[in-house]
Amino acid sequence: MSDHYDYVVVGCGSIGSMALWQLTERAPGARILGIERFGRIHTKGSYSGESRLFRVALKEGGIYIPMVRRAREMWLELNERTGRDVFLPIGAVSVAPADFPTMEQTMEVIRNHGLDHEVLDAVELAERYPAFAAPAPGASPDIALVDPDGGGIRPELAVALSQQLAIDAGAELRDNTRVLAIEPGEGPDGTTVIRCTGPDGTATVTADKVIVANGSWASDLYPDLADHISVQAIPLTWYLPLQITNFLPENLPIFMRDIVTPDGDVWHCYGAPSLDGYSVKISHGDFAGGAPTPDGIEELRTGVLPDILSRIFAERSSAFFDGVLDDPVRLTLHHDGFTADRAPVLGLAPGNTPGSEGAVTIATGMSGNGMKFAPVYGRIAADLAVDGTSPLRPGSFDYPTTPRTAKAAGHRATTLTS
Ligand SMILES: Cc1cc2nc3c(=O)[nH]c(=O)nc-3n(C[C@H](O)[C@H](O)[C@H](O)COP(=O)(O)OP(=O)(O)OC[C@H]3O[C@@H](n4cnc5c(N)ncnc54)[C@H](O)[C@@H]3O)c2cc1C
Repeated sequence: MSDHYDYVVVGCGSIGSMALWQLTERAPGARILGIERFGRIHTKGSYSGESRLFRVALKEGGIYIPMVRRAREMWLELNERTGRDVFLPIGAVSVAPADFPTMEQTMEVIRNHGLDHEVLDAVELAERYPAFAAPAPGASPDIALVDPDGGGIRPELAVALSQQLAIDAGAELRDNTRVLAIEPGEGPDGTTVIRCTGPDGTATVTADKVIVANGSWASDLYPDLADHISVQAIPLTWYLPLQITNFLPENLPIFMRDIVTPDGDVWHCYGAPSLDGYSVKISHGDFAGGAPTPDGIEELRTGVLPDILSRIFAERSSAFFDGVLDDPVRLTLHHDGFTADRAPVLGLAPGNTPGSEGAVTIATGMSGNGMKFAPVYGRIAADLAVDGTSPLRPGSFDYPTTPRTAKAAGHRATTLTS
């Protein structure tokens, strides 16, 4: 069987589904195909886990602020177009001692970009968000930095509904189909050949332009990316408050909190208010240092990790929040691909000329931060496929040919997934 498409998107998770949607906007009437290895929606990618944090006041600042502002507009557009609450505009709050480094960095970004915000002192914090536990006796008082443009994202819904917008606009989606190889220029007239295997056996598709958004599996198709992207495990945990009112979205936005313990350790958590009406997601970012091999991705949900995690975090949740039981009520394990500088790879694959037939765009290495930017990264990928360039794309997102280096400011694993 052989089929030809104008555009093919490989991997229809967070970024791929947005790229499909944006391709239908950028190239109406074009033949567009999405190919997804697992089900149309599944639990194996980097997008599962009920909620994701969205913040505009990002301590990284710089290039990320215009992109996250654009992303917010696009999230609201997705809500509007689908009539669903994919993006929950409930704000974001960061809680930490006033002199905590990320608070100071974020305040500087807020000042530089003139971002809306509010600073609450310890008394105001306790009044407005009573769920947060007071610091231990003798510890520095906390302040809260409120980002009113922040909010929550329902990631599974985001993937399913952006796919649906694309399908409604004429795109096709083949699920349970795994791409095995991408061969640029090997098809008729310099098109790209995509070899895959699915329910009906092996198939070959050709495309004028290809977007590869296969997440943590990037090096399956581009082996050299294994030198630039490490796949890391990220757990999510939910806890049970005995009294739920203070944990509902009207009383608690999405949040991050840092506690400095008496011996100088930093305990970090991030999460979302109760979306199911009985549990609250409080995730402890400092497990993210584990780097399983790509094979390990398939094994993350088995083995002894859940036990270890339960024990590691048991003592912490009640330090962050009042009235939650110490043991998690739900625990899931996920993964994402991390680059050294935490900037994604979002550019043309090596050897591709912008705008040429068969050009392949790569979108991967989302580094624990891809969901908030997903619509705008999908747009950039679509721009690159259609025009060979995108006005939204920073040059630092180029496909890495030499090693990227970690930024001097450092990136604590604890703040990556928020
Ligand atoms: C636990 C956790 C918490 C996070 N929290 C936040 C947060 O609060 N805020 C935030 O902004 N970001 C957050 N992130 C990061 C964000 O979720 C990820 O960066 C983003 O989901 C990555 O998107 P992706 O498209 O690269 O990968 P995915 O969403 O995994 O999509 C890749 C897709 O490609 C498919 N695929 C793979 N190989 C093939 C193949 N050969 N053929 C066909 N299809 C293939 C996969 O099945 C998958 O569907 C978090 C991540 C995790 C894991």
